[in-house]
Formats: sequence, C-alpha cells, structure tokens
Amino acid sequence: MGGYSVTYSNFVKDPYKDWVPDDETKGASKILQWAYEEYGTNIVYACSFGAEGIVLIDLISKTQKNADIVFLDTDLHFQETYDLIRDMEVKYPALNIHIKKPDLSLDEQAAEYGSALWKRQPDQCCYIRKIKPLEDALSGAPAWISGLRREQSVSRSKTDFVNKDERFKSIKVCPLIHWTWDEIWDYIKDNDLPYNELHDNGYPSIGCIPCTSQVSDSDHSRAGRWAGIQKTECGLHTSD
Ligand code: SF4
Repeated sequence: MGGYSVTYSNFVKDPYKDWVPDDETKGASKILQWAYEEYGTNIVYACSFGAEGIVLIDLISKTQKNADIVFLDTDLHFQETYDLIRDMEVKYPALNIHIKKPDLSLDEQAAEYGSALWKRQPDQCCYIRKIKPLEDALSGAPAWISGLRREQSVSRSKTDFVNKDERFKSIKVCPLIHWTWDEIWDYIKDNDLPYNELHDNGYPSIGCIPCTSQVSDSDHSRAGRWAGIQKTECGLHTSD
C-alpha cells in the first residue's frame, strides 16, 4: 500500500490542525473532499447509523457517491436500526453499504464464553462483536472515517480532523469534530433525512439492545450507553 501523502507510518500531525473552518458544514465537506481525493474509495466509513451517521452519509454521498460504508452488525441491534439501514439503502442506492458480522454467532459465543457475556465481560463482548470485525474490515484500508464529535465526551474532546489511530494502525478522519448535538439534528430536520425512530423515544445514542437504555435526560448525546457500569466506549475509539 502506498502513494498516499498521509499514512499511519508517516503521520506527523493533522494537516488541518490549524485550520479554522467557517463554512456551513464546519469543515466537514472540505475534510471529506480531501479524504476521498487522498484515499479514493479505499477509505472506509464505519457507520453505526446514529444521528451523526445519518449526517455523515448525506455529506459523503455528495462527495463520493459510491463510497464504502461498513455497519458492524453485532446481531444485537434494535429492529428500528435494521429498518433505518434499509431506508438509507433506498435513499442512497449508489453507496456500498456492507454488513459486517462477527466470526462467532451469538450461540457460538455463549457456548464458548457463557451466556450474556455483555453483562459479565462487556469489553470482551465488544472485542468479539465490534473491534475484531472492524479490524477485519479495515485490513488493507489506509484510512477510515468516524462521526466522533469533540463535545461528546472528555475522551473525544481532543479529536482532530485527521488522526493517527494507534488502535487500528490506520488514519482516522473525523469530519464532524466541531458539530454540536443541536446542529446534527438541525441538519437532519432541514434536509428531511431518515433517522432511527428510537431517537424520539428517549434514546439519544443507540447501540446494542443489552447495552442501550432509555433515558430521561436525552440532552446528552451519549446518555444511555452502558448505563450502570464504568464503560463509556466500546473500544473502537480508544488506543488500547
Ligand atoms: Fe456486546 Fe454490549 Fe459491546 Fe454490543 S455494546 S458488543 S452487546 S458489550
């Protein structure tokens, strides 16, 4: 693999580190344009089809109509999430949406590790059902796109547009770092985009069924994920 100017092995700093965007997408469109010019269709967008994901897919479709998008299907998602993916496939027929499954079915995981692994060892469960599948999906890809926003959490507050990703030995491009939660929703409503109907029922952030709860304080975009335990990230965005 080669020919790219920004790679995991030669990364020094975000080429847009000192850039202050002033356009209506807060830099997202320009960063996506740069990313697809730099990596072509070899860059992968790992999409969870949350609110940020819907915005990113719409922006990506305006930049690279046949972009590759990967959904990590843990077999534990809400039916509403699967319904939304079908709606998006209809709205954006040129996009290549790949459904990536773990190596182990839920029955195989239960046989090997015991039932309801997410209750006892959620990190192990996330590794099997999300991280390993993404490692496989990114194998050979020089870069990937993520919908992280700085305001989501302390651990995400230092995210740049272009990041060296130690976890996956790749480049991670994050076009939405400057967006607020309200701006995400304004974009969805203004552009009449489909979204997961669970968002209207107390689920600001939607992941696997066992690890997603309905909340009353839906002002915080990550509320309701792994409620009651210390875990705040599935491991896709941590370095180890
Ligand atoms: Fe398992 Fe929960 Fe992680 Fe989904 S979010 S992979 S159910 S621990």
